[in-house]
Order: sequence, then C-alpha cells, then structure tokens
Amino acid sequence: MTTNLLPRLVLGTLALCATAASAATTAFVNVNVVPMTSTEVLRAQTVVVDAGRIHAIGPVDRVPVPEDATIVDGTDRYLMPGLADMHAHIPRQDGSELDRVLTLFAARGVTTVRGMPGAPPHLDLRDALASGERFGPTLITSGPSLNGNSVSGAGDARRQVAAQVAAGYDFLRIHPGLDRAEFEAIAEAAANHGIAFAGHVPAAVGLSGALKAGIATIDHLDGYLAAMLPRHSPGNGGYGGFFGSMLADDVVVERLDEVVAETALAGTWNVPAQTLVEQRIDSTPAAELAARAEMAYMPPATVRRWQEVKASQVADAAYDADTAARAIALRRELILRLHRANGRILLGSDAPQVFNVPGFATHRELKLYVAAGLSPYEALVTGTVAVAEFLDSDTGRVEEGRRADLLLVDDDPLADIRNAARIHGVMLRGRWYPEHELEARLKALTSTE
Ligand SMILES: [Zn+2]
Repeated sequence: MTTNLLPRLVLGTLALCATAASAATTAFVNVNVVPMTSTEVLRAQTVVVDAGRIHAIGPVDRVPVPEDATIVDGTDRYLMPGLADMHAHIPRQDGSELDRVLTLFAARGVTTVRGMPGAPPHLDLRDALASGERFGPTLITSGPSLNGNSVSGAGDARRQVAAQVAAGYDFLRIHPGLDRAEFEAIAEAAANHGIAFAGHVPAAVGLSGALKAGIATIDHLDGYLAAMLPRHSPGNGGYGGFFGSMLADDVVVERLDEVVAETALAGTWNVPAQTLVEQRIDSTPAAELAARAEMAYMPPATVRRWQEVKASQVADAAYDADTAARAIALRRELILRLHRANGRILLGSDAPQVFNVPGFATHRELKLYVAAGLSPYEALVTGTVAVAEFLDSDTGRVEEGRRADLLLVDDDPLADIRNAARIHGVMLRGRWYPEHELEARLKALTSTE
C-alpha cells in the first residue's frame, strides 16, 4: 500500500509557534490523573512538568506549584498519556501534506507515530520532531519498503538491510511479494544487525513462517485468515481480497486457537488497523464515509479518490457483503483472543489511507478494540503502556521521570473510550498546546479545493 501523491495545497504558514508555551515548566493543577499503571484514577492531583519530563505528581495540597510555571486548570478534567499510532503513513516529501499529517496526529492527541514505510527525508524529520523544531508527534521510522519489486534475491536483501541499518532507520518494513529466500535473508540479516522487521506476511512465507522468523509486528492481521484455511487447501497462503477478507467463509474457525497460540508463543505483536479494513469492506456507503466531519481536514480530491477506492472494492467480482461481514467479525474475535493471550496488541490505524484521517482514525481504532471486547482501559493500553514496552521508551504512563507526552481530556476515558477524543489540550515533549491553538491549526487545514 502506498501513499499516493496528493495535489499540493498552498496553505498559509501558521505563525503559531510563538504562542505555544515553551518547553519550560507547566503545572496541571487539581487534575484527575489516569496514570495507566492500573485502572485507578488519582483524584485532585498536581502534575509538574519541567524540561520535557514529568517532574512531580501528588495531591494538590502537597505538591507546590513552581513560581514560573504555566498553570493549566485541571478541575474536572483527566490527564492521560499521549497516544501512539504504530501504523502511520508519513508523506515522503516535505510540504503541506506532511504538515497536514503531522498536525492532524498531534492535534488529536497522538504524540508518537511509527512511519510505515519510511524514506530518506524521514531521518532528518525524526530529529526535527524530537527537538521540537517541528510541530508533530515523535517519529519512529522504518526504512524504505522491502517487497517483491524492491528486492531481487537473498544477496540483495542482505545488502539492503545493511544499508538501512547504516542509514540509521529504526526498523525494517516488509511489504508483499518477497519470496521465501529473500524473506529469510532479511530475517537473518536483521537478527545479525539487531534491528526489527515488521509489516506484512508475504504469501510465499505464510503466518507460521513469519512468526518463526521473528517478525516484530504483523500489521493489518495480515496472513491470519489464510492461515486458518483447511490444511492443504489450494487457497492456503493466498491473498483472498483485501487482507484475506474474502477467505472468511472458508476458514476453519477452530483454528483460531491455533493461530493465537502460535502468535503468543512467538511473542509477536499485532497492529490490527481494523478501522482501515472495516471501512474498506463493510456495507457503509462510500458517500456516508465521505460525509464524516473529519473529512474537512483532507483535500477534497483525496476524499473523492477514497470514495472511488471503496466503490471499486465493493464492485469487484470477488467481493461479497456477507463474507465481508463475517471477515470483520472474525478479525474482531482475533483481536480479542490475541489480547487475552498475552496483550500484545499495538494501536495502529493505517492513516492517511481510505477514509482514515490521521488522529481521528486512531480514536476510531480504539473504539473498534472496545467493540471487539476490550475494556476502555485495555484499549488505551494498546496505545500507551504496550507501545512503551514494545519500543522500550520512557512514555506511555503518567509517572515521575517519564517524557511529558500528555493528553488532557474533558471526561474519564476509562468510563467511555470516546472521552479520549474530547481533547482539551496536548503536551508534546513538555510543550503545552491548549485547545484553541490546536483548533486554529486544524482550521488552517480546511479548504474547499
Ligand atoms: Zn499501511
């Protein structure tokens, strides 16, 4: 899947940087804290942020507010960790579309994204975001896509892995079309270099092969339905439409336990991108999806193209609406079972792709995890605590010493997952962006053509 080049919009440059509080001292006073260390909410707290880190947390009457601090009134509000979206498409070129994607994620409380796939300009972009020179989430970036077209043979695969490691990418991105020898060469070279590889399950490799080779994340639940077909079936390993969805009638449901156990044993994480798949294959009319309020933040030509993609998906001769509904239900069941097996689900929406507006799609993805059977707390774990474990990062919890990537929301996100989207302000690496500033940045993205 590639990010199409979108028509460039000329947007006025925002002169908002000057109004944002610098990464100095900020105090959230009298706030309810959702620390994500347990399901407990800490009431009436003061949280002091200094030099980009959480400096102190405690009851309002015990934690002094530093004199020079910017004070944020937290009364009746909830302070939670910023969210991470582990499957984002970051435009390759600098310009208005890159600004759009970064702005949308950050304004919707996504403070870390994993770029799938990356490109050479993303290495400097990663630094500019980390230093705060550029507005947007922290970027974890893969190298350019390794796929059937970009890799020719095992030797070339090893050479490309070494080159990507030398360039400084965070991990390797796998796309379809690799043969078994190429995939195994990538896995072996990745292990030697100590870099992770993640993404699709090549049809020639299959789910078991990818798990055994040590793939770090499987994205979109790729390969799962194919792996649940009857043994030795001719379709085994086949693609079966969008992420195997049209295989749903043929799978052996009892094999769900097998694939879940195999995944748990391998320790592999899954990034479901369920919102992308549901929007692509469910029976919601494309016009209805195109009418969602958040589409105002995408170029109209992009939304029209998304409508065409959805229309051609459901017009395909191999498409069947009932099968699609079963595929969606099966995928939700997989998400729940994988979560229960060892909790190795990472929040990821796959935006911007077909009706997935960055940030807004992240919150839709959270709602789908709850629809699949996770509690709001468990759903939030996938975008906070679990990501910190996966990346070995010092984010994902509201705790002293952690990086201050935070989200202030209007009501309790543990009571209703939709509350995580009721954003009053976002803190990126210690820098506070109140609601009015985020709104101004979003408004600047709207356009009639
Ligand atoms: Zn993708």
